[in-house]
Amino acid sequence: MSSTLLDTAIDGVPEVLPRLPVRVIRSARRRKTAAARIQPDCIEVRVPAGMTPDVEAEMVSSLVGRLERKRAAEAGGTNLADRAAKLAKKYGLPRPESIDWAEQNDRWASCTSVRGTIRISTRLARVPRWVLDAVIVHELAHLREPNHSPRFWELANRCPRQERARGFLEAMSTGHSDPCHTI
Ligand SMILES: [Zn+2]
Repeated sequence: MSSTLLDTAIDGVPEVLPRLPVRVIRSARRRKTAAARIQPDCIEVRVPAGMTPDVEAEMVSSLVGRLERKRAAEAGGTNLADRAAKLAKKYGLPRPESIDWAEQNDRWASCTSVRGTIRISTRLARVPRWVLDAVIVHELAHLREPNHSPRFWELANRCPRQERARGFLEAMSTGHSDPCHTI
């Protein structure tokens, strides 16, 4: 098995999504099928070993393009207000006054608890849905508990994958394990 890390520009993928490097893993065991998936630090593409570089490049580009377009469409179609309302109901948390995507690179999300407003980093537009949900629940919990107190974690951890989501984000950002900043 061999792997290569590429930095591939894919045509037709909207600029809203930050680009991830593409890791190509060639497997001798894989004969026909290929697959791409999002990892915290890259897009991982598994392909059969032994293809010519041209054929491989075409396959990688096609798979990554398809995955990225799907992500972009999902991100564009993710109505944060609806999502937050559903999660608030599910976990017995307050609904925000507003929740919006925002260009912010220094944090995953932020919450102004006195106003009930939440902003979610556009960098999260590409993470798996369960990670985004965990971040939203984290911020909803801040609407009731502004600080990271034990009572806060009791609320935030009503979302069962909270801890795994923190691990995912930590791997993405190498070090910023806390998803948010509360004002
Ligand atoms: Zn927080």
